[in-house]
Amino acid sequence: MVEHVKSNRNKIWELSLEDRFKEVYPPLSDKEAQTEAMRCLYCYDAPCIKACPTDIDIPTFIRKIATANVKGSAKTILQSNLLGGSCARVCPTQELCEGACVMGSEHKPIMIGRLQRYACDYSASHNIQHFKPLPNNGLKVAIVGTGPAGLSCAGELAKLGFNVTCFEKNNLAGGLSTYGIVVFREPVEVSLAEVKQIEALGVKIETNKALGKDFTLNQLIEKYDAVFLGIGLANVPQLNIPNDKVVIDGLEFIAATKIKDLNSLKIGKRICIVGAGNTAIDCATIAKRLGAPRVTILYRRSEAEMPCYYFEYEFALSEGVGFMFLTQPIGINLDNNGHIESINCVRMDLQNESINGRRISKPVPDSEFNLPCDMLITAIGQNKHQDILDNLNQIGIDIESGYIMVDKHTNQTKHPKIYAGGDCIRIKGEASTVAAVQDGKIAAQAIYENLVSAKVKKVEVKK
Ligand SMILES: Cc1cc2nc3c(=O)[nH]c(=O)nc-3n(C[C@H](O)[C@H](O)[C@H](O)COP(=O)(O)OP(=O)(O)OC[C@H]3O[C@@H](n4cnc5c(N)ncnc54)[C@H](O)[C@@H]3O)c2cc1C
Ligand code: SF4
Repeated sequence: MVEHVKSNRNKIWELSLEDRFKEVYPPLSDKEAQTEAMRCLYCYDAPCIKACPTDIDIPTFIRKIATANVKGSAKTILQSNLLGGSCARVCPTQELCEGACVMGSEHKPIMIGRLQRYACDYSASHNIQHFKPLPNNGLKVAIVGTGPAGLSCAGELAKLGFNVTCFEKNNLAGGLSTYGIVVFREPVEVSLAEVKQIEALGVKIETNKALGKDFTLNQLIEKYDAVFLGIGLANVPQLNIPNDKVVIDGLEFIAATKIKDLNSLKIGKRICIVGAGNTAIDCATIAKRLGAPRVTILYRRSEAEMPCYYFEYEFALSEGVGFMFLTQPIGINLDNNGHIESINCVRMDLQNESINGRRISKPVPDSEFNLPCDMLITAIGQNKHQDILDNLNQIGIDIESGYIMVDKHTNQTKHPKIYAGGDCIRIKGEASTVAAVQDGKIAAQAIYENLVSAKVKKVEVKK
């Protein structure tokens, strides 16, 4: 249970609209970064490294900051994680590196995320190229999707001398880092700067090119030596209740605040958001910062079952977001102009049985009630790219519950040329930017080993 939450509300309203959408944490100054870096114990067998899914050598990059070698520090980070600037901002560091930091037990953990951001921002703002790709090996790889998984795979392969072409269905590359992560956590410019860094390694990115529409899987298989699928997941599912056509897709709502002029966005006065994952929290805090006086999250289970991170929940409360637990919308009432007037809801009750570790909720008989609302946003997970999955299945690739099945050591599918990573394979565990980056790295390494190392070994054996 949340016991005490410090409110940001008054402070936020004093800011202009643009300032409300600036990064929540300001960058560290040189002095702050050095002082913080000097607190690090540079542990032998450091637990923070083990807690980082991309194995960043955290004590080494921190030590380099302490000795004012910021460029070297960034290189250490980017060697393990080409999207270090995004991860510095979006990683749940409390649960990963900072959660494992030995300083956390008695003092405050080292601010690893903010130090990483300091070093990566320095590198991006000075446009430093840290890596010289190996000589071209003549092999061609196609990457579908330019989210963290696709970009990481593309960049690592380019470093290894491959010809890499990425196909992206959107107008801008970067996946959810560009379109999905709230702007006050990761500004679009950070994601686009990383895209540029990947391009600087020699990767070609073709935007507005969608698999299944502009080209087929078979064409990729024919033309390329390997294919990596980093297609993520799709849009938010419909609520399937009367009048749900007027409901706004939570991901589209967030994307608008990232790529459109904030002043042009229309916002309701009583906004309800369905769902209680991180996306729902993001939609709610955005709605608040856009100026909606009343924002309420509706969730069919209780506080204890909420899938969002606890710190996200606390953040939403501090921003003045309201929560109605054990509540499910069952219909939408429109006025004569087709605008939402209110939603019909029903109270829910938690049962003893559970699915995937979460208790089932069932409607309480005769508990319907009407909730005034003029904007309803849904954030109840993401659909799958069903057409692509069907196509993959037809060529022998296993699909389970809408996820692409891969070998966990190589991220290779049952088709020898096709690899996959990121949210589209994450049937288990938390979908996150850093996990997607690591998936891309694993696949790149496997592609290298299968196409280059194996050939070199064969030649050596023949000799
Ligand atoms: C609202 C929201 C907030 C989040 N916040 C956090 C956070 O704070 N911290 C964190 O670690 N994680 C967060 N995540 C999760 C994180 O963003 C994802 O796990 C990560 O982006 C997955 O990377 P990916 O490359 O697999 O997929 P994506 O980032 O989804 O990228 C997939 C790319 O593939 C493209 N694509 C799809 N289909 C096609 C096609 N047919 N042809 C060509 N291109 C295609 C898409 O346009 C997209 O660019 C958040 C997710 C959401 C939805
Ligand atoms: S665990 Fe903490 S103190 Fe030890 S190396 Fe990592 S960041 Fe530094």
